[in-house]
Amino acid sequence: MLTVKEVEAKARMLEDQNYEFRAFLKRNADADELDEQFKQLHNELFANYDCCKCCNCCCACHIVVEDSEIAAIAESVGQSTESFIIEHLTKGEEGEYHLKSSPCEFLDESGRCKIQHFKPNVCKKYPHTDQPRRLSSMYSIIESAKVCPVVFEILERLKKLYRFGNKRKRN
Ligand code: SF4
Ligand code: SF4
Repeated sequence: MLTVKEVEAKARMLEDQNYEFRAFLKRNADADELDEQFKQLHNELFANYDCCKCCNCCCACHIVVEDSEIAAIAESVGQSTESFIIEHLTKGEEGEYHLKSSPCEFLDESGRCKIQHFKPNVCKKYPHTDQPRRLSSMYSIIESAKVCPVVFEILERLKKLYRFGNKRKRN
């Protein structure tokens, strides 16, 4: 597995190849089978990975907070919804709320989330590699491979599984 320091440069180096792999999957993969392969690799690789030693997603991503999540997060840090919005959130172009800080201010020094039980859905689901419809989400997976060493590794394992490198050499 790559280190956090290596992942962005390596993923940028392979970006064109990753887009070719996306096109290859669009032509050749069965969507349900691919979801299952993503899920298996996600479970296998995260089972042996300590996210607290990485935290790159909490440092690099801009976190969207759903309106319905704000009150519970505010209460968990002892604030009213109104003061939490003023202090911690900003609005995006489409009116959605984001956490203001990046790296996230709720990341503690040991790499844990201070609002673990109330963290936004998008944090709970990141990097989404165990979710359905991965074939339609390959652009965001390729983006996540620049942030998340596990996503990078999942893509590389899938290339091997589909013998993608071998097929490119023959073409
Ligand atoms: S809310 Fe928690 S999980 Fe989400 S980015 Fe911040 S520290 Fe990470
Ligand atoms: S989900 Fe990925 S980027 Fe986030 S902490 Fe875990 S390994 Fe790192």
